[in-house]
Amino acid sequence: MAYTYDPENIFAKILRGEIPNRTVMETEHTLAFEDIYPQAPIHVLVIPKGPYVTYDHFASDASDAEILDYTRTVAAICKKLGVEGDGWRMISNAGQNGVQEVPHLHVHILGGRGLGRMLAKV
Ligand code: AMP
Repeated sequence: MAYTYDPENIFAKILRGEIPNRTVMETEHTLAFEDIYPQAPIHVLVIPKGPYVTYDHFASDASDAEILDYTRTVAAICKKLGVEGDGWRMISNAGQNGVQEVPHLHVHILGGRGLGRMLAKV
């Protein structure tokens, strides 16, 4: 399917500087900031600066430079946060079934405590 990007989503506003954020790391193509409602002692969101809705949209349409920058930035953030030793989890919610609230690609990086099994029964 073709994705349509909504430039009024809250992360687009963060990227334009219209809403503040607690930046963890910024590169040419990527911004990482603390989640406003942290669900673990470490809860960081990593977003590309380009207009991508979901991970598959990004992986399909972004340039090699954007994808490389994004991927390497995740590694740099893990190093900065010191999560490699104890372990951590990366989540990317997409669309209705994935219960994605903000329609701009983000991965959640979670750590700092045991995170339980991957999915709870609903
Ligand atoms: P998702 O359900 O994967 O779309 O998650 C969206 C995430 O964005 C949630 O964990 C929210 O707490 C987080 N969030 C929403 N608004 C902001 C904001 N202004 N700054 C930081 N995180 C936010």
